Amino acid sequence: MHSLPRIWLSPPHMCGREQDFIRNAFETNWIAPLGPNVNGFEHDLRDFTGVKHAAALSSGTAAIHLALIMLHVKPGDLVICQSFTFSASANPIVYQGGIPVFIDSEPDTWNMDPELLEKAIIACQEGRFSDLGNGLIHSHLKPQKPKAIIVVHLYGMPAKMDKISAIAEKFDIPLVEDAAEALGSRYHGKACGSFGMMGILSFNGNKIINTSGGGALLSDNEEYILRARFLATQARDHAPHYEHSQIGYNYRMSNVIAAIGRGQMTAVHERIEARRKNFERYRQYFQVINQRGFDVHVLLEPEGFYSNRWLTTITLAPEKNRGVGREKIRLHLEAQNIETRPLWKPMHAQPVFSDSLRYSNHVSEHLFENGLCLPSGSNLSDADFERIFRSLDQVFRG
Ligand SMILES: *Cc1c(COP(=O)(O)O)cnc(C)c1O
Repeated sequence: MHSLPRIWLSPPHMCGREQDFIRNAFETNWIAPLGPNVNGFEHDLRDFTGVKHAAALSSGTAAIHLALIMLHVKPGDLVICQSFTFSASANPIVYQGGIPVFIDSEPDTWNMDPELLEKAIIACQEGRFSDLGNGLIHSHLKPQKPKAIIVVHLYGMPAKMDKISAIAEKFDIPLVEDAAEALGSRYHGKACGSFGMMGILSFNGNKIINTSGGGALLSDNEEYILRARFLATQARDHAPHYEHSQIGYNYRMSNVIAAIGRGQMTAVHERIEARRKNFERYRQYFQVINQRGFDVHVLLEPEGFYSNRWLTTITLAPEKNRGVGREKIRLHLEAQNIETRPLWKPMHAQPVFSDSLRYSNHVSEHLFENGLCLPSGSNLSDADFERIFRSLDQVFRG
């Protein structure tokens, strides 16, 4: 058995205020998928992101699903999605019967490569699906303009939003921003989640703020948010009885969960600061390691990019590091009860999407093979860091 407690990748970090809001929900008997905490949490999110309207929902996945419903994604429609991401970015496309077109990453942000995006849109419009295959034939598809673009700010690093937005505008395709990992990240001063026609956030157990599970849809367009609330509460028409003229969903956040969110939002600035400090500690550590002849990379912020540093990640090629690769580090740290995790496996390489359309440059595959996420909780202690660095020292000493 392990004598030392586990150091988690990104554990919950409550601030104490959550319970005041929860107590208030109980005292006022607002135990429902609506109530003052839901309104309050939505207000906090608007305030923090600068987006005009927000709907608190049961998950980030539900938020993406509703966004695609509102953009009228229907069976057979093509939807462009960043390949290097968590499966929740892409699954809602399939819920709608849509066909994902996965776009690979560019090396300096690890997010959607704008050049590949443009090429893929043109290939879709011209029906050149052989350009988007992996040797498979997509002869059944008709030339068409993609219905939406889902861009992701992975690990908190903003995507190149000027270029991505310009392409979306040029081809007149609505942009959905998956900012699940990027609450507090900014691109030239503007909040991630505020660029697209809609943006989504997640508050699941390991995100930068955590409601035990939850998400939000953001938009400057009030119509979308009103409609999202309507669809998320079973699409009840205005009537004294239960009347439905559309298919609805049960996707609303409860007032008790929103209480946790309100408490968490009182500490959001400190959480981001703490995560950014984690990154800085790791960066300095690996700078010293590299002075000893290793070649470990951290992802730096390009000019104008501000990352919340949700997770600190490293990449290293074993052939340039005396045989030390991400698996060697992962297994060694795991044996000392320290959790790390390989970078996301790109969607186009997932078994479930093996025959999907994709525009690949192999950047994300390379990242998956050589990259590792390090413990990045906002509540990591100095003692935790000592343990982590001691373990890493052992790996790099050989
Ligand atoms: C966490 C996450 C989601 C999904 O959010 P849930 O709230 O867990 O449904 C979507 N996209 C990305 C990139 C995520 O990391």
